[in-house]
Amino acid sequence: MKSLIEIISKCEELAFDLNFTRAKEWKSQDNTRVLVGYMPIYFPREIVHAANGLPVGILGGGDRKQIIKGDAYYQSYICHMPRGIIELALDNHLEGIDGFVFPSICDVIRNLSGMFRFLKKGKFVKYLDFPQNFQAHIGGEFYISEMNHVLHEIKAINNVEVTAEKLNHSISLFNKNRKLIEEIYNIRQDAPWRLTAADVYHIVRAGYVIPVEEHNEILEQILVHIRQNIGEPVDKIKVLVMGAFCEQPPVGLIKTIEMAGCYIVEDDFLLGARWTQGDIDSSSKQPLNSLSNAYLNKSTFSSSVYDVHNPKEGRLIKLMKERKADGIIFAAPSFCDPALLDHPILQKACNDNNIRYISFLFSENTGQFKVIKEQVGTFSDSIKLWD
Ligand code: SF4
Repeated sequence: MKSLIEIISKCEELAFDLNFTRAKEWKSQDNTRVLVGYMPIYFPREIVHAANGLPVGILGGGDRKQIIKGDAYYQSYICHMPRGIIELALDNHLEGIDGFVFPSICDVIRNLSGMFRFLKKGKFVKYLDFPQNFQAHIGGEFYISEMNHVLHEIKAINNVEVTAEKLNHSISLFNKNRKLIEEIYNIRQDAPWRLTAADVYHIVRAGYVIPVEEHNEILEQILVHIRQNIGEPVDKIKVLVMGAFCEQPPVGLIKTIEMAGCYIVEDDFLLGARWTQGDIDSSSKQPLNSLSNAYLNKSTFSSSVYDVHNPKEGRLIKLMKERKADGIIFAAPSFCDPALLDHPILQKACNDNNIRYISFLFSENTGQFKVIKEQVGTFSDSIKLWD
């Protein structure tokens, strides 16, 4: 078996391969295979898998892609991620990806889908609306029709028939994927020194660009290593990092938080991979109903979900207690309306519950972390010394 360092280094390479080499290689082995690119946050990857496709997560260029043309497409006062994605598209990094799905989250993503249409990228561009009505016969039915739309687009490309059996198989593979990722988080909750938060980030992000079967194998190998008592604990506080669910923080930022005296035991960086809480029924004769019910009843909390009956502030406090964390770091992308509009609600809940928090903004290409390191270091020290 490979060493932990070897596996993590492979994951890092996969996670930041902006040419999506492994995905394109996978597609080249069979002419009915398709690649479907999807943007954050959540997309039901199971339907693409069942249609002989590989869902490819597109998360921007991060700090590895210089923006030259992307700025011409967007005004300055919006987040950075769409510029990175446009830059990738214009520089042909996304060639070979057959279709693009833009899950509804904000106007920026909606406009980005329009840009892709305008640029004639891929064989289809789908803006995927999620229901904001959580009754199965209304929102659930609507969501099924949205998923059917994507399946229809894929079938027009590869003519592969999607059966209930195939969908159930795909659902079970992604159930397993989430369970393995959750085990990694659970181990880190008690022993975060066994794997850094940046390592976890690379491991989970690799799963965005490779077949789920391969990712499950990687996760199983990682778990063999970290179930053992490896590494040495360091005197750090445990924190949740919230707000980075769409545009991704640079890995340097994640490392900075941990180097400044915190163990990140929970985050929403790659939330789509952990969106559904628990298993989805993989034995139904109507698997799209199972996916729809899971979305309506088992979604995590997020700024993109209307949650009047189960408010996110209550769920955040609950999560904080479950993870036995000492505080929360609100880290949102600059100009991210969904994240920033939620901050006052979430921070009021922290105040009401006597939970310590700090807050700052970032961009995917932020390169200077000194100020953040000092802020996080002070936060950590204040909890360690005076709590
Ligand atoms: S980072 Fe925020 S504002 Fe930008 S596309 Fe994502 S959700 Fe929208």
